[in-house]
Amino acid sequence: MARRVAVIGAGAAGLCAARHLSARPDQFVPTVYEQTDRVGGTWVYTDRVGTDEHGLPVHSSMYKNLRTNLPKEVMAFPDFPFDSSLPSFVTHQEVLQYLEDYTDHFQLRKHIQFLTKVDTVKPVTSADPTLWEVTVSRVGEPEKTTTQQFDAVMVCNGHFSEPYIPEITQASLFEGISLHSHDYRSPEPFVGMDVVILGAGSSGLDIALDVSRVARRVVLSHDRPMVVSELPTNLIQSPGIKSFRSRTVEFKNGEELDADAVIYCTGYNYSFPFLTLECGVWAERGRVSPLYKHIVHTTHTTLSFIGVCARICPCPQFHLQVQFAMAVLDRSLVLPPKEDMDKDVERDYVERLESGMAPHHAHVLGNKQWEYHIDLARLAGCQPLSKALHSLHVGVLSDRATNLHYSVPYIPAIPGADLFQGRTIHSHE
Ligand code: FAD
Repeated sequence: MARRVAVIGAGAAGLCAARHLSARPDQFVPTVYEQTDRVGGTWVYTDRVGTDEHGLPVHSSMYKNLRTNLPKEVMAFPDFPFDSSLPSFVTHQEVLQYLEDYTDHFQLRKHIQFLTKVDTVKPVTSADPTLWEVTVSRVGEPEKTTTQQFDAVMVCNGHFSEPYIPEITQASLFEGISLHSHDYRSPEPFVGMDVVILGAGSSGLDIALDVSRVARRVVLSHDRPMVVSELPTNLIQSPGIKSFRSRTVEFKNGEELDADAVIYCTGYNYSFPFLTLECGVWAERGRVSPLYKHIVHTTHTTLSFIGVCARICPCPQFHLQVQFAMAVLDRSLVLPPKEDMDKDVERDYVERLESGMAPHHAHVLGNKQWEYHIDLARLAGCQPLSKALHSLHVGVLSDRATNLHYSVPYIPAIPGADLFQGRTIHSHE
């Protein structure tokens, strides 16, 4: 009998799960639950911050001027290319359209229940294979819940929605504007200001460049090696923040700046509020455990997580992770005993710490992703990723290290611009 699989979320990861599960209807029946009214997850840009029109916390962390930091050739699912007429570095609107097209091409909409929020996931039986009870509610009607049983659950709820803000001495005393990148939308509110951007990951760099177009001065504050790319003259770098005093930001080198705003580009927490304690999943800063190969729960192997890894090429990796989870479900992949999987998870973590990685980098793959992808494809018995993807990615990263400017064209907000019916193009293209 076909296994019933609950998929939580219709972002790129959930759509990928639906695409592969629905391709084998004799073996799998997917039901995708999506709390918003459309597919795309974090690529659904909104001007709103705080709550959405249905009263839910805004999920997306997109900002208006975002252009991808990976070329479309590396971003695409291996079985569905982007429109070849697009430039390599596409806008967030173009990524959303791509995900919509993927949804329609593989006829996924019929498997998705929109405006349906997963409230709880609970194991019904404790032995493996676990049977799952999933309780959902219609958005806006939290009291109207329904509960259904499933043979498996794929968690695809994303991990760029719950801001992580480090504790900094007297942060609450800072009297300027203070926000997390999750709530950053556009540079306009920072015109003429002195702005500190804390964190120099992808979002920190992008937002610093975006804000530098309009701000008086931008300080990119971070503890990483200095960014070597040529930067705008009003954008300087400084070590991390040590403390705050009314309008004053003190950096770790003792220097001070009177700032109008601080934008925390300090990352996100993993969050699975719908998993009950009985699921036995522990999410701490930067680590979800116990997940074998960053995917499958070592006790409840019918519970899998797609998209937990960081610093990766997301869609190609989801494509493999989903097939790995399915190979576990259809038993074409026989997993090692639980004890061995737990040891493997621990070994991976300890090796990271010993190599000098931070404790919250438990799922950061970076360059290791390519080895991981080969391993997943071998274990799942599926087609490996093209080697060209690896070389292209390496090329892009080394280029980005010395040339950041291409990824963030600035287009000022002009009243009525969205009504203009002619072709608009930025000098970048
Ligand atoms: P999401 O897109 O977050 O989707 C999760 C979905 O789950 C959402 O639709 C949400 O509504 C739903 N959901 C959550 N909880 C529930 C619930 N309880 N019940 C029902 N539904 C629920 N990747 C790239 O490849 N290139 C880039 O250039 C790039 N730039 C990025 C820039 C930013 C600012 C961010 C935040 C991310 C960027 N990424 C980029 C990474 C991006 O997150 C991934 O590409 C990918 O979109 C992640 O998909 P996901 O499905 O895991 O998560």
